[in-house]
Amino acid sequence: MDEPACLGVPPYISPYPRYIAGAMAEQGISPDHIQYLTIDQVRQGQGQDILGKTALIVIIAGMTVPGRYLRGTPINPGEISDIARAAGDTPVVLGGPIRLGYGSQGGMKAIAMDMQDIIPVKGDIEAFINDILASSAGLHDPETVANRMRSTSEIAKWGARGAFVIRHHPDYPHVMCELETYRGCARQNHCSFCTEPLYGDADFREIRDVVCEVEALYGYGARYFRIGRQPDLFSYLAKDTGGDMPVPRPEALEQLYRGIRSAAPDLRVLHMDNANPATIASYPDESEEIARIIVKYHTPGDVAAMGMESADPRVVRANCLKAMSDDVLEAVRLINRVGGARGDNGLPELLPGLNFIHGLKGESEETFHHNFQFLKGLLDSDLMVRRINIRQVMAFPGTRIWQEDTAYRYHKQFIQFKDRVRKEIDRPMLERMVPVGTVLRDVMCEVSDSITFGRQIASYPLLVGIPATMPLKRFIDVTVTGYGQRSITGIPYPLDINHAVPRLIGELPGVGKKRARSILKGRPYRDKDDLLAQLENMGNILPYITMKN
Ligand code: SF4
Repeated sequence: MDEPACLGVPPYISPYPRYIAGAMAEQGISPDHIQYLTIDQVRQGQGQDILGKTALIVIIAGMTVPGRYLRGTPINPGEISDIARAAGDTPVVLGGPIRLGYGSQGGMKAIAMDMQDIIPVKGDIEAFINDILASSAGLHDPETVANRMRSTSEIAKWGARGAFVIRHHPDYPHVMCELETYRGCARQNHCSFCTEPLYGDADFREIRDVVCEVEALYGYGARYFRIGRQPDLFSYLAKDTGGDMPVPRPEALEQLYRGIRSAAPDLRVLHMDNANPATIASYPDESEEIARIIVKYHTPGDVAAMGMESADPRVVRANCLKAMSDDVLEAVRLINRVGGARGDNGLPELLPGLNFIHGLKGESEETFHHNFQFLKGLLDSDLMVRRINIRQVMAFPGTRIWQEDTAYRYHKQFIQFKDRVRKEIDRPMLERMVPVGTVLRDVMCEVSDSITFGRQIASYPLLVGIPATMPLKRFIDVTVTGYGQRSITGIPYPLDINHAVPRLIGELPGVGKKRARSILKGRPYRDKDDLLAQLENMGNILPYITMKN
């Protein structure tokens, strides 16, 4: 499943399966009798042997912000039905974000899920599972159990108890654990498209509960964490003073991050997800302090994803969006100022990400012009944005946009705008963020054919294409050599020029096909001096190569 603040696509594991496993354990089920599988594992035939033997099947599903992923495709309704049929008499419970409706792509309305042989959970699935196991009749007759929301004290217990389940994840131990600090929206007025207010007011978890969960996950081998499940990390434990925006509390973030680092001293990644640009623009001093705390404790390559949605003031007003474009600009400047320095994994410490949504009320052809000009302004001001996400709204029941019929109106202009941003903004932004010759550390090779695609394990990782077949699930360092629209080309660092395939040698900065042929002719080289003695003008590649004999 994917959800704006809670991702469950590999290498991520969302909190849902961890909480559910914890609720099961709390109700006396031995961890040995709890099995977690991703839908991709089921597609490959795994789990068939347990289908007939299991007492209960729980499906976690839903796509709130449908995206395309390098590995992993969320479950679809046909597959849910297939599992229910194969389960026979075993109760099958369905929950997660799908309770709000199902849609496979932006621009459409989500449809209610009503399927045969499935028990749909309208409340929190972890609470439902706890309750059916706690009641004597529940497992035999799950429909007698009420739907309800879980409390933060319950997930404090279940999160820590269910940490063991990360060991079932196909990417374990390289699995990114999403951490929840709160859900619900603290604003008084809500954006027309957003499902977060359906969770109610901000429901903050205690710092010690989050830290205890990290300690438990760390104990089971977790080394990658993203503080992802909240609409605005800068507002964690913020003070509600009665206005539209609560006042951030830097001391809470300091305690949270310090606690996580002491509970998981050798963690490899600690990243964040969402930040509200209106919080940052409204409280610049507190927000700058928070950004500095994040940079002090996190790992580099971090992204503060900001929901800008639109730079068109008419759309902002018509949909009660959180921030005008000037506010977003201030927030982007602040994050660049605090987080723009390059970290030891090759990427800037902390950069903003921007999300745009099209198909909102009040949109016109002019909206696309406003949005493009805003992005062009960032480029011209030497600012960096790690990622620009552009999508069409998906309308969910319960949101104000559900009543409107605007989502698909400017579809053609939407496609053109997206294409223009990819070419004229994304690519120069990438060139600025990771210039040729930058070395990116710990890129995991994930998919391979004649080109291998890999990524660092991160919040919004950069896609790297390596023009060679590389062993999968291995981490390598990569020298940046070129750019696609939203990805980069790279070669292993340092490149062993005595053994590398010709295509990789041709990719070395400033080499190309002709000089690659000269290098190949002179192989093997004893050392760098030997290379310099045999070929002219090779000094610029020395930092990126090695010679193994
Ligand atoms: S500020 Fe808007 S987008 Fe953010 S959580 Fe609240 S309603 Fe949703």
